[in-house]
Parts: sequence; C-alpha cells; structure tokens
Amino acid sequence: MALVNTKKMFEMAYKNNYAIGAFNVNNMEITQGIIEAVSQEKSPLILQVSRGAREYASNSWLKAMIDVAVKENPEIPICIHLDHGDTVQTCKEFIEDGFTSVMIDASGKPFEENMAITKEVVDYAHKYDVVVEAELGQLGGIEEDVVGVSHEDISKHLCDPEQVEEFVKKTNVDSLAVAIGTSHGAYKFKKEPKLAFDILEAIEKRLPNYPLVMHGSSSVLKEFKDLINKYGGAMPDAMGVPEDAITQASKMGVCKVNIDTDLRMAMTAKIRQIFAEKPSEFDPRKYLGPARDAIREMVKHKLHVLGCNGKAAECA
Ligand SMILES: [Zn+2]
Repeated sequence: MALVNTKKMFEMAYKNNYAIGAFNVNNMEITQGIIEAVSQEKSPLILQVSRGAREYASNSWLKAMIDVAVKENPEIPICIHLDHGDTVQTCKEFIEDGFTSVMIDASGKPFEENMAITKEVVDYAHKYDVVVEAELGQLGGIEEDVVGVSHEDISKHLCDPEQVEEFVKKTNVDSLAVAIGTSHGAYKFKKEPKLAFDILEAIEKRLPNYPLVMHGSSSVLKEFKDLINKYGGAMPDAMGVPEDAITQASKMGVCKVNIDTDLRMAMTAKIRQIFAEKPSEFDPRKYLGPARDAIREMVKHKLHVLGCNGKAAECA
C-alpha cells in the first residue's frame, strides 16, 4: 500500500470509537521502533514530522526512511503528516514533497485570520488529495518552537464549540486540533488535569462525525520518570494526561492523538540504564538497539490505550 491520507482512518476511528496514534519521527531507531509496533499490532499509523525533526535529520532523510517503512509494510495504512506547519508556504512545500496530510497552525492569530489562512491551505491541499488539520484555541506548554499558554491559563483558553462549528464549516478543514485542557511537553501539570469532555460532547452535537485531534497527550508515565532519575537523570515531578482520559476522549470524536514525550522518555530511560549498568559499553548498537525496543513496547502500549490495535485492515 502506498502512503494514504487520514480520510478512511478517521471515518473508521470515529465510527468504531477509537483513535489513531500520531508519533513523531526523528531518527532511524525511533522510526523502526514505531513501525515494529504497528506491524506486530496490525494498527493504522500516522507518522509526523515536526520543524525540529526537519532541522535535526532533514526532510529528505526522514521521508526516505518513511518510504522504506511503507514499502516493507504493505498491510499497514500509513499517513505521513506535517506537525505544526507555521505558514501556507511550508504546507505547500510538504505537499510537494509527498506528504499526505499537513497541519496549518495559525491558532496564535485572531479567529478570522486563522480561518483565512487555514482555508488557503485547504483549497490548495485538496487539489492533491492531501488532508489538512488546523488548530483552534490555545494549548498549554512548550513543544520545540511551539509555545503555548502557561499552565495556569489553560482553562481560560479552551475552545468554544460554536466557533469550532463556524471554523469547520467556513474552512472545510478535514480535522481540527481543539484546546480541551491538554498541554505540550513533559512538564504539563502539577496535579491531575481535567479534560473538558463537555466541550467534546458539545462539538459532537454540532458536528456529528467530525474528527478531532488531541495534541500534547503524552501521559508522562511515572515509571519512566523514575527510571530516568534512578539512572542519573533529573526530571522534576510532572503529570501528563491520564491514559484513561485519552481512552475516553477517543470514544468522543477524537480520532488522532499526538504522542511524543512518552516515546522520548522510554528511549532515554533505556539508554541511561545501559550507561549506568555497563559503563564500559561503547558500541552504539548496544544501547540504541535496546532503546529501539523500548520505543516499540511504548508504542504497542499506546496503541492499546487508543484502541487502534488490530484495525489496520478496516482502515486500508
Ligand atoms: Zn502539537
């Protein structure tokens, strides 16, 4: 199967109450770990590339790795997505590079301007059968160069269901990242966050069958934070979005969930453990190999949280 866009994935995910995992790719080990997981679990997949990933590894290397993954896994529907595209021009470039989905993030702009910019990307992308994700409301936290509102202010910047309806109808955008209380990065919340499920319900009433997206949805699992710190790390206490809240959201119209921090933490914990337990080790394969396995196991776990395991065939 060639690369696909997310139309069929979201249609099936919405109908059958699960969400598709969108995982960030930055290097070969991360990409292979993710691919091994979806291949074993027979799950559909969204691989996404951020601006930081592009600066680190270059678009052509990332795209080439993803092309290999697609070729070697014909039974898995794979979408390749631009995460947080900042301008119309960036989105056009990624569409020309063969991406099947792009995000235009003009959420920092006033509502009308966000709509106008989004509509321009949608009109261009649809000519090439590429789907578009936009963002409304403001997320918390920091992810690479995407800086959101402070944690204390998250609840004041949740999205308004009436605006969501207007935004979707006027722009024809294929999916929308909504601010419902999630936050980017590892240091999300000091206490357990409450997601605004009432907003999801209100959107579902106004826009039946419309796929929503959750950013900043790692859970910052304590087990991995503790491992990192046990082996010499210094991650302060933090909480992410609880996994049962993510499972619940995936039954309420959320069809795509972005997970990055939890993969980074799994990889870092494993490398730290090997360095601590075997200081004589200097063969990168001896720590990057197990780190790749740690990515795989984390992704497999997340696919079950999202409920998309075993769904590759119905999304193809
Ligand atoms: Zn994001």
